[in-house]
Amino acid sequence: MQTNSTQYDVAVIGAGPAGSAAAYFLASGGLHVALLDKFDFPRDKTCGDGLTPRAIKLLDEMGVLPQVKRDAHHCSTITLRQSDNVTFQLELSSLNGLPHDILILPRYQLDDILRRHAVAAGADFMPKARVKSLMRTPEGIAHLQIEDDRTLDCKLVIIATGSNSNLLRELGLLKKKPPTQLAARTYFENVNGLDDTILLFFDGIELPGYGWVFPTGPGTANVGCGVFFDSPHPQPTQLRNLIQEHPYLRHILRNARQVGPIKGFPLRTDFSPAHSGNEWILVVGEAVGLVNPITGEGIDYALESAQLAARAILGEWHAGSFSMALQKRYRAALAKKYRYQLMLNQLAQQVYFRDGVLDNLLYRAQQKLQLRQAILDVCFGSVNPAVMFAPRILWDVFGP
Ligand SMILES: Cc1cc2nc3c(=O)[nH]c(=O)nc-3n(C[C@H](O)[C@H](O)[C@H](O)COP(=O)(O)OP(=O)(O)OC[C@H]3O[C@@H](n4cnc5c(N)ncnc54)[C@H](O)[C@@H]3O)c2cc1C
Repeated sequence: MQTNSTQYDVAVIGAGPAGSAAAYFLASGGLHVALLDKFDFPRDKTCGDGLTPRAIKLLDEMGVLPQVKRDAHHCSTITLRQSDNVTFQLELSSLNGLPHDILILPRYQLDDILRRHAVAAGADFMPKARVKSLMRTPEGIAHLQIEDDRTLDCKLVIIATGSNSNLLRELGLLKKKPPTQLAARTYFENVNGLDDTILLFFDGIELPGYGWVFPTGPGTANVGCGVFFDSPHPQPTQLRNLIQEHPYLRHILRNARQVGPIKGFPLRTDFSPAHSGNEWILVVGEAVGLVNPITGEGIDYALESAQLAARAILGEWHAGSFSMALQKRYRAALAKKYRYQLMLNQLAQQVYFRDGVLDNLLYRAQQKLQLRQAILDVCFGSVNPAVMFAPRILWDVFGP
């Protein structure tokens, strides 16, 4: 057996946005950090590739925004479409306290930029290092068993493995396989009429869910759809057919050429602070179920939760070891930031993403500015989502 004798302060498992951001923040804070991923990089990740204003804010705080902006496509509006007659735009410039852009950058590029940023801050990256199991010795050393019989020792572990819950279940941090939703996407080139707007459409999509066309550059786009109801067995073929046969997509992609396969990937929106780890493991990003149940977006929460975890660790790190208050501190920070917000988002999804109700919401929003503003603010988390249940909004949607 090959043994890696180096003992790290922290090992981060998974080099998606959550893992690389955690490694960056911790290495910048002076800790000795290992960042492991089962793949070599750059690697693809099935995603819509959209960076929300909240994600952009975090990338700015990490000092990596100029690099991301250089490669990304910039969008300043969102077009929502329910039918030929119900379609309108939301202006990102009316978002309060957040950047006024959405950036689209394929994950093949984004995740590698973030990983390299973590390495530049001092983290050691280990590719092709699938972690098979973890245990902790009575002396408080965490022992990682990696494929190919490699091992790694550290004092603290961050799990950032995305929607794959195998490791969490093996460790008993999740009791059973969590419910998953499903989204799928592919890329097209030679797309006519793309603008600086991201398109979300609802007609012909099973609710709660939506389809999207996100421009990735001149004439190129990420095209996909997601179904956000819990299912033990989401059906990728359903989404494949939808992308290929949806009448509206066929219309806008009539001269376009599909590049690459349609790939589906599960999503987890089952956030609970109780699943955020134990006294020697912190769980970040989608591994703790942090995905917006309305939009299916999770890169922003992945970056934010990594920052919360790093702050908790650096705050509880004294003379080369961490105090027992660490888990409590991280769990409290997660609960404060997300519990209420995601509960209300979940509720808003259940109330508004229903046949008949969504039609009404979009039809009325086309006419009423305050409704359009509420949709924008809630989708991007710039206000308390309780606004969707304020009497004036309920009246706008359900009133005569
Ligand atoms: C089709 C689709 C479209 C989406 N569109 C958007 C969008 O437009 N915008 C948005 O914000 N979000 C979107 N999301 C959600 C977003 O992709 C995720 O929320 C985000 O990737 C979560 O980041 P993460 O770092 O937590 O996990 P991931 O990005 O999934 O990264 C996890 C990493 O862990 C590694 N790993 C897993 N297990 C192990 C192991 N045992 N050992 C070592 N490494 C391991 C994986 O290789 C991977 O690199 C979409 C999701 C889907 C499926």
